[in-house]
Amino acid sequence: MAFCNKCGAQLPDGANACPACGAPVEKSASAADMAQNIMNTTDATAEFDPSDIENNKILSLFAYLGILFLIPLLAAPNSKYARFHTNQGLVLFLADIILSVLMSIFMLIPVVGWVLVGIVGGILGIIFLVLMILGIVNAVTGKAKELPVIGKIKILK
Ligand SMILES: [Zn+2]
Repeated sequence: MAFCNKCGAQLPDGANACPACGAPVEKSASAADMAQNIMNTTDATAEFDPSDIENNKILSLFAYLGILFLIPLLAAPNSKYARFHTNQGLVLFLADIILSVLMSIFMLIPVVGWVLVGIVGGILGIIFLVLMILGIVNAVTGKAKELPVIGKIKILK
């Protein structure tokens, strides 16, 4: 049950405006909407050569497996598609290294540092894993779709 932010009158389900005072009803974004917004990233697949995608999609999955990002980089240096995924894999790889360094610094702070590393590290670990899986799925299914959050960072041109 919802109430008007302005006058406090009870709002009927799905109302766009308050029947008592006419104030517009603000729709609060649901978790599902937020998830959809985060996932709604630029899909540049159309800019890539279909034969490039077809030839390099399996190779491109290695971009997301840590240091193995070197495989597509070395094996397909001229593939724009492999480069797209290698860039994202590299960003993830570097973010992971930076995070690990920060974690080991925080581990030097007894109790507070350990708790922080446990909670923040756990959450970021899950986010990294999800991004990695998303990247692999995109690579293998022939999509040049930016990953949420990190997809805009371009290290490799
Ligand atoms: Zn009202």
